[in-house]
Order: sequence, then C-alpha cells, then structure tokens
Amino acid sequence: MADCSKIRKFANAADYVKRFVVREEIDKYLPGGRHFIDEERINGIIATIEGKPADPVRVREIIAKSESTCETLEPEETAVLMQVEDPALFEEMRAAADRIKHKVYDNRIVVFAPLYMSSKCVNGCKYCGFRSGNETQARRVLSMDELREELDVLAGRIGHKRLIAVYGEHPETSTEYIAETIETCYSHAVPAPKTGCMNSIRRVNVNAAPLPVEDLRVLRSVGIGTFQVFQETYNRKLYGEMHPAWSVKGDYDWRTTCFHRCLEAGVDDVGLGVLYGLCDWRFELLATVMHARDLERWFNIGPHTLSFPRLEPASGTKVPEESPWLIDDDTFRRILVIARLSVPYAGMIVTARENAATRDKVLDHGMTQLDCSSNIAIKGYSDFEKESHQEKNRQQFMLGDGRTLDEMVRHLAARGTITSFCTAGYRCGRTGGCIMDALKTGREGKFCKINAVLTFREWLDDFATEETRKAGEALIEKELAGIKEWLPKFFPAVMKQYEATCRGERDLFF
Ligand code: SAM
Ligand code: SF4
Repeated sequence: MADCSKIRKFANAADYVKRFVVREEIDKYLPGGRHFIDEERINGIIATIEGKPADPVRVREIIAKSESTCETLEPEETAVLMQVEDPALFEEMRAAADRIKHKVYDNRIVVFAPLYMSSKCVNGCKYCGFRSGNETQARRVLSMDELREELDVLAGRIGHKRLIAVYGEHPETSTEYIAETIETCYSHAVPAPKTGCMNSIRRVNVNAAPLPVEDLRVLRSVGIGTFQVFQETYNRKLYGEMHPAWSVKGDYDWRTTCFHRCLEAGVDDVGLGVLYGLCDWRFELLATVMHARDLERWFNIGPHTLSFPRLEPASGTKVPEESPWLIDDDTFRRILVIARLSVPYAGMIVTARENAATRDKVLDHGMTQLDCSSNIAIKGYSDFEKESHQEKNRQQFMLGDGRTLDEMVRHLAARGTITSFCTAGYRCGRTGGCIMDALKTGREGKFCKINAVLTFREWLDDFATEETRKAGEALIEKELAGIKEWLPKFFPAVMKQYEATCRGERDLFF
C-alpha cells in the first residue's frame, strides 16, 4: 500500500481549488521570474519566417543534424522546417523522420489502451465534456471492484499490457485514489481465453492534473510509468481564455512546471502534449521545443513521449467546432514530421481521436505509439459489448478510430511492423536519463526487438484470431532471422526464451 502520510489533505472541493497549488514549487523553476516559454522569442521567430520560403540548403543541414545527433533542435532550427511548403522537400523531411523513427525505435509500434477512471472535475476547461457545470455529462468515479471489471476485459479479453489511466481533477480522485488504482491494475491477473495463461497490466501510464513533488513521490513508489500532462496551449493569453482563473487549472505556471517537479521526484518518464486547435500550431511546436530543452538543461532528461491530440467534438461545448485555430490533416502531418525532427529521441503518440485513414497515413511520419480497442466512456469496457460503442454524455470527447487490437496487429503485421507489448525497459530501470543515450545512439531500438518478439509471441498465442496469428507468425520468422544475423552468438539464448514462451511461460525478457 502506498504511504500517503506526507501528502496534503483537503476538506472539500472548494478548499482543494483554493489551496492545491504550491507556489514555492513553481518559483524554483522560474528563476528571476523568467519563464522558460519565452513568448517574445517565439513571436519573434514566427515573424521572421512569416511568408518567407524555405532555404532548401539550410533545411537539409538541419535534417542531417537531427538524424546524426538525435539531439533536440534549437527553436530557430525548428522554425526553418516550418517554412517548407514544397511537397518534394517535405517528402525529404518525412523520409528522414521515418528513418529517425527506425533508428531509435526500429520497426515497432507500441500499443496501449486508455482507461478512464473518473469524470468528476473541479475545472472549467471550455473545450472539455468533463468541465464542472456541464450538466449533460453523467459523472462517476470507478470503484476498485468496477476497475477490476474493466481490467477483466482489457487484460483478460483484449490482451492489453499497457494502459494510460486518465483522471478528471477532483478531491475524490486525489493522489491516494490514483495510487490505489495503479496498484489495483498491477495486481489483477486474468486468464487469457486461448491458453489460460495469466495476463495482467505491466505498465500504467497516467494522464492527470499536475501534482506537487510529495504526491509525485507517492506515484513513483507504486510504479507509475509515464506521467502525461498536456499543456493544452502554451500561449498564456489563450490559456487564460480556455481555463478560468477561478480553477486550479487556470494557473499556467503550475501546469508548465509540472514536469520539472516530476523529474525532481524521480518520475523520470514524462509525456508532453499540446491540444492542437486552440492556438497557432507553430507557436505550440516552438514552445514544445523550448519546454524539452529546459527539462534537458535542468535534469539532462527530455520528454519520454510527445502526444498530438487534436480538438474533438465534446458534450456541451462548441469550442472544438468553432476555434479559429483548428488544423487540417496536411498541417497535422507537418506537425508530426517537424516534431520528430525537432525532438528526435521522443516517443510519439497519435491516439484514436484520429480516424483510421489519418492514423494509417501517419504511420510513416515518425510516430511510435497507438491506442486500439479504445473505449473512453467511464466503465465503457465492461458495460458495452462492442468496444467501439460511444456515448457523448458518458465520455470526454468522441473517438475517430474504432479498430480492435486484433485488427490493428494484423494491419501492422501486413506492412512489416511489429506490435510491441514490451514493458521490460521500464521494469529493468531503463527510464529517464538511463535510456536517453541508448535511444539517441539506436542501441535501445535494436535491443528491444528481442523483447518485442517474445511479447508478440505471447499475445498471438493468448489472444489473436487465427488470421492475425498467421500474419504475426510470418513476421516473427523474419524478425528472428534478423536477430540471428545481427547477434549470432546471442541467438541461442534468444531462442531458449522464445521456445519457453511458445510452451506457455510468460513475461520473459532480456
Ligand atoms: N483532467 C486532467 C487534465 O486536464 O490535466 C487529465 C487529463 S484530461 C482527462 C485528458 C486530456 O484530454 C486533456 O489534457 C486534454 O488535452 C484532452 N481533451 C480535453 N477535451 C478534449 C477534446 N474536446 N478533444 C480532444 N482532446 C480533449
Ligand atoms: Fe477537467 Fe481535464 Fe477536462 Fe479540464 S481537460 S475539464 S481538467 S478533465
């Protein structure tokens, strides 16, 4: 059980809203009152590139730098990439983004499922179906028994091993609750339908509101994976318009300094994100680069992942349809490619908010993680027979891609991409600073191939339909041949674990 004795307690929701933000934990990371998101510099950069065509020589220099060093670019370098309008030059950028993805993450796509724990929220974000005061939303907080029912489906029927657990911000879902849900996820094992082998969730990432350092230490103690907090918009003025000043989330500085506190607390896999459609995408991307660089400057660790949510329709709000900054699919593709080149080592997540055609199109734009079989209604997995079932008044926003994990695995296998269920790196302590170098040099990408094959084999035997199993096995054969060529001396040890997995041993990894 998590030790929550040191974290602050609140009498009620009003008390929580008034007292939750810890000023000293903000000021520490804004020395001299200067914010690392330098809006003047960003606006200056945008003014310099506005209406000016790209210099192809400079663009190619920056691509080469990104590819050879895998280091985060300077914002001014990112801006040069933003000037590219010529389709042929963009294609060079996209191809480089895809090569970098392969260097860092090989031919793998990591899969996960979102699991919404609660829809109660004290905040008033204008684009979100969960905002307080939205009477059309049916509110609930999962009990531990209900959570176990959700896990029966996720781990027992679909075969997921990785979750992103999502929470509204509310005293009922405070750090104690988050810690208890993480512990419940890890401890609930369920037999797989095809083999009876036990499966459980092996990595719980969290998407929740920013927390103080002591609370983050509690989450670290129960084995949190990545802590994701989306900034929504880095533009302070627009941020103020979307997040009322009376709300906890209305504090821009509390949110922007959240990852500094995470890294201080030892939660060293942090997931950045912007809600695209609230502001000029160029501003957001330049600010993301500044954010990554400031984390690197303080802690020598950058973002573990970047997420790219776009505004989707939600109950009781017109913002997702009426915002002046909504982006089209071509712009979305540019954002992904420029992000991959700008923060080359980061994992990149494109969620089922996007429709199937868009997600398929951007598979070669540098992305590394997908969710599938997703249901974001609270208690949606156990209540609905069909995973793709949606109800606007029971979920935060609407999803675009209803494909199941089985369909996605088959689809990826057909294009030579291995679905990775591997969670070994994190459980062997390969997180944060320990993994940065391995990622940048491509060592992690190759090494993980072996663990990806072992967990893929597990999933195919435990959960796949016959058609998907066949497609997956053809890919495994190719992957094993590749490992044999790459590591001839080590190959017998790999085969020993592989054969043990085929016999029904589970969770074997290097
Ligand atoms: N409540 C916490 C918070 O806001 O930090 C946890 C995350 S919230 C449940 C998950 C994320 O969903 C938000 O950070 C926001 O980026 C995204 N979101 C909210 N409304 C959305 C919408 N209409 N379309 C797409 N994404 C949305
Ligand atoms: Fe609450 Fe998060 Fe929705 Fe804002 S985005 S209303 S904080 S759930």
